[in-house]
Amino acid sequence: MDKQSTIIENSLKAIMDDEDFLPDLKAQTREQAYNSLVSILTTPNHVHKSFLRVTLENGRVVRVPAFRIQHNDVLGPYKGGIRFHPSVTEDEVSDFSKLMTLKNALHEVPFGGAKGGVVINPKDYTVKELNLICKKYVQYFNDILGPDKDIPAPDMGSGEREMDWMMAEFKTIHPGEQYRNSFTGKSIVNGGSKGRRESTGKGVYFSFRYLMHDYVKENEKWLSKNDNIFADTAVKYAKKKMSMAVQGFGNLGSVAALEAHKCEYLQNKIVAVSDHNVMLYNEEGLDVPSLVDYAKEHDGELPTEDKELKDNDIAASIKDRDDLLELDVDVLLLAALEDQIHEDNMENIKAEIVIEGANKPVTEGADKYLSDKGVLIIPDILANAGGVIVSYFEWIQGRETQFMGEERIYEKLFDKMKNTMDTVLPQFFGDPFPLRQNCYIHAVTKLSTIMFRQGKLY
Ligand code: GLU
Repeated sequence: MDKQSTIIENSLKAIMDDEDFLPDLKAQTREQAYNSLVSILTTPNHVHKSFLRVTLENGRVVRVPAFRIQHNDVLGPYKGGIRFHPSVTEDEVSDFSKLMTLKNALHEVPFGGAKGGVVINPKDYTVKELNLICKKYVQYFNDILGPDKDIPAPDMGSGEREMDWMMAEFKTIHPGEQYRNSFTGKSIVNGGSKGRRESTGKGVYFSFRYLMHDYVKENEKWLSKNDNIFADTAVKYAKKKMSMAVQGFGNLGSVAALEAHKCEYLQNKIVAVSDHNVMLYNEEGLDVPSLVDYAKEHDGELPTEDKELKDNDIAASIKDRDDLLELDVDVLLLAALEDQIHEDNMENIKAEIVIEGANKPVTEGADKYLSDKGVLIIPDILANAGGVIVSYFEWIQGRETQFMGEERIYEKLFDKMKNTMDTVLPQFFGDPFPLRQNCYIHAVTKLSTIMFRQGKLY
């Protein structure tokens, strides 16, 4: 069974044991309801798969595998990104679609969960070919997509450009229909929202800052008295200047690292960042703004040679990127791919705080091992929801055809994340479950209650 499904099952067990949960659930035994909910929530509603036929510029015809998996729409239209990556598989897309349902339920975003995938390395294709792939994706899946049916967004390997292309194709296929909200994560001139591009990275850092600073500071008295290993970790680190290593320097990692660098009252020190080529290290702290500027000018890549560091006045040494996870730092921010901390490296992890910017970067076994040791993991479902939250704001703005300023967007984003954290953190620090389990319990409770109210459990 996949990680998500196991946690869903555990959450359902915990809530079904609670007599206050759905006291009116009389039409069947609680055991039956439990079994029904397990099968509904661990299985997608629909799996759509196609092999897009694409004619390359040199005339060769290729078949590109593509997916759209719609997990659950009990809370609203299906919603979730489309990943463009060579390692995309049906199982992975399905797992991520589940996570989207839970993420939206946790943060009170009125959408269901879906995910898409295109099995390509975008770097292997010309712009014209990528445009064609995007058009074909919409042509193959247009029947199941739409502003009130299923609204895709960017994910790893895709961005504003792809969403603009896809929305345009949707408009061509469905003339006269309300097309603007068929995709989110579009460019601002094309109806996108201010702040959407930075939203995931900003939200990731906010979740860490709010937990480790604002919340712990305000609740230090009861947290210190609490007999809870995670409260001990939080109180211990909230008082010190934390060193941080960031794995991944794309749209997520670079924005989150910059937020950490700029955050005056927390004074984090970013000692290492990595991308798919290298790790840059400086024990005294890296100059993150210069690295961000460098990456902007070099197709998103970090410098790989000493000469480039020197020429750009960047004080850092180049190291093997694979060593980043095992550095002796306080905080690890994971902003790359899934399954990065696993059974083979979990024992070497020294950080006591792990932030999951990427989806599923810690395997199930490693998650349990680290949590048992008191490592505080801020899970993906909580930390990286900034993207879909601002997608929701984009969707509302598109409906109203009135757009908000950047400051207002961030204010609303942080408010929403704060609300979620204020709901889950008291329970988290009060009971023995890791934060992930706590978030899942909250999301699953919401989904189950609504399904019961809608008569879906009879
Ligand atoms: N791809 C992002 C995620 O995994 C955003 C999804 C969206 O905006 O719909 O949360």
